[in-house]
Amino acid sequence: MISLDADSSPTPEELPPEIDGLRMTKQRREVFSVVLAERDHPTANDVFSRSQKRMPTISLATVYNCLEALVSHGLVRQVNFEREPSRYCPNLSDHCHFQDEKTGTIHDVVFKEGVNLADFLELPQGTEVSHLEISLKGRIGSN
Ligand SMILES: [Zn+2]
Repeated sequence: MISLDADSSPTPEELPPEIDGLRMTKQRREVFSVVLAERDHPTANDVFSRSQKRMPTISLATVYNCLEALVSHGLVRQVNFEREPSRYCPNLSDHCHFQDEKTGTIHDVVFKEGVNLADFLELPQGTEVSHLEISLKGRIGSN
């Protein structure tokens, strides 16, 4: 099991050769470990430049392919804010994203304990939500 604890993000070598049926090539392990290492919701370009430090030969196209594979296997979430480039988030627990308009920083926001979507959304009766994607924008405090 992959630890999602931010203090112990695995190096590419520590990642198993296969996760949830996805064969972890050298490049995928590199890209996944970059996404796990710094939970700042990087863009593909950010992941690319960080990956190049350990793997100078990796291409942007490869990074995109790796991210796509990780997203389609549910190992990483793709986060979209309007027309901005997609961001990538390894936090798989139910959460929303809040973007600070001033700094562009994206924060993970969790539901308050015991709160369900149906408590504040008029969902059609019998709805079963299978995918959650809520993005908020605004300012924090007086920054
Ligand atoms: Zn997130």
